[in-house]
Amino acid sequence: MDYDVVIVGGGLVGASLALSLKESGLRLALVEARPPLFDAAGWDSRIYAISPGSASFLGRGWERADSSRINPVREMRIFGDDASSELRFSAEEAGLPELAHIVESGNLLRGMMQAIGTPENLEVYCPASCKGLLWTDAGVELDLGEEKLHSKLVVGADGAKSWLRSHAGFEINPRPYKQSAIVANFECEKPHLDTAWQWFRKDGILALLPMPGNRVSLVWSVWSDEAERLLAEPDFPELVAEASFRRLGELKMITAPAAFPLRLMRVDSLVKPRVALIGDAAHNTHPLAGQGVNLGFRDARELSTVLLERGPQKDCGDYPLLRRFDRARREDILSMQTTTDLLQKLFNNEIPGLSLIRNAGLRMVEGQTWIKNALIQHALA
Ligand SMILES: Cc1cc2nc3c(=O)[nH]c(=O)nc-3n(C[C@H](O)[C@H](O)[C@H](O)COP(=O)(O)OP(=O)(O)OC[C@H]3O[C@@H](n4cnc5c(N)ncnc54)[C@H](O)[C@@H]3O)c2cc1C
Repeated sequence: MDYDVVIVGGGLVGASLALSLKESGLRLALVEARPPLFDAAGWDSRIYAISPGSASFLGRGWERADSSRINPVREMRIFGDDASSELRFSAEEAGLPELAHIVESGNLLRGMMQAIGTPENLEVYCPASCKGLLWTDAGVELDLGEEKLHSKLVVGADGAKSWLRSHAGFEINPRPYKQSAIVANFECEKPHLDTAWQWFRKDGILALLPMPGNRVSLVWSVWSDEAERLLAEPDFPELVAEASFRRLGELKMITAPAAFPLRLMRVDSLVKPRVALIGDAAHNTHPLAGQGVNLGFRDARELSTVLLERGPQKDCGDYPLLRRFDRARREDILSMQTTTDLLQKLFNNEIPGLSLIRNAGLRMVEGQTWIKNALIQHALA
């Protein structure tokens, strides 16, 4: 065997697994299709709300990211579709320094790759593309064209359209939301107050997330045909300002808007003999809770724990060991997907009377400190 673990996909989740296994002594390979991009002169429109739990799992990878481009979230303010319903989460009230941090994808990935460095037990294949996968007596063979990698375990961290998932024969049953999320960055007239602002509107869910200075990042989930119309609007910033009730005043766009189709997807099991899936290769959720990448980091954290604690006799592709990882991840993934799916259905729905119920629901949660504390604890993981 060349390797103990081959990770296909060096996005944030795959890189986090490589980082967490770097000191394990295991022989590792990371296979990535495209070299990472980071535009230090501009701002990424792909941004993430990183939970304190994820930041602590990433350790040196988190510390190496450029902190001048990271913004804390000290409050979350969530509004219903009437004027008076609001749910507010405050770090101060919960006795915390912050609820999350907003970071650009490229900045975080660059920090993680720097923290990984060039250890002797890790080989990076980039750019590389996968041509074939074969199970042998002792492991799996991953064909990269010019090279064939032999490993005891291959991990699919290659995103929503995972090559490994389909070539290893995982069945999926995706359910498109028929919605797209539009992302773009803006400069705002009024201070964002380190607050993540979110509006559950009848026509979609709009979030403005605080970035350094007077910048905010938009994630606006709308029906896909509406997304196409909005992207073609010459006065898109004005539409965003209007849809966010001008809370942050006038908006000036600093990155061109882009839209991503949204879907709900999960696999029946995250593992097969000698194969495991993590991150978006394993599950896609609605971005309304901003938790997709955190869920992926928790997959990587669990898989790395199981591999590190496996004991001397077991190899990394041992099926009962992988099943343990699968069982440990089930509840977290299912509860995140169920919650975001329910909220999406509840709010993007024109059934008469439902608007009253959902706004009353927001106000009810606002009045119940114990529910709010439970929700905060979940979001910190
Ligand atoms: C609009 C939108 C907003 C979002 N906002 C948030 C947010 O605020 N917070 C949050 O936590 N999540 C958010 N998410 C979800 C988040 O983007 C994903 O959960 C996250 O990017 C998943 O990371 P990943 O590493 O699993 O996959 P990816 O980021 O897709 O990385 C996969 C990697 O694999 C590589 N690859 C693909 N195929 C191959 C192959 N065959 N061989 C080798 N390499 C390959 C790709 O080049 C890529 O580098 C959002 C999603 C959307 C659509």
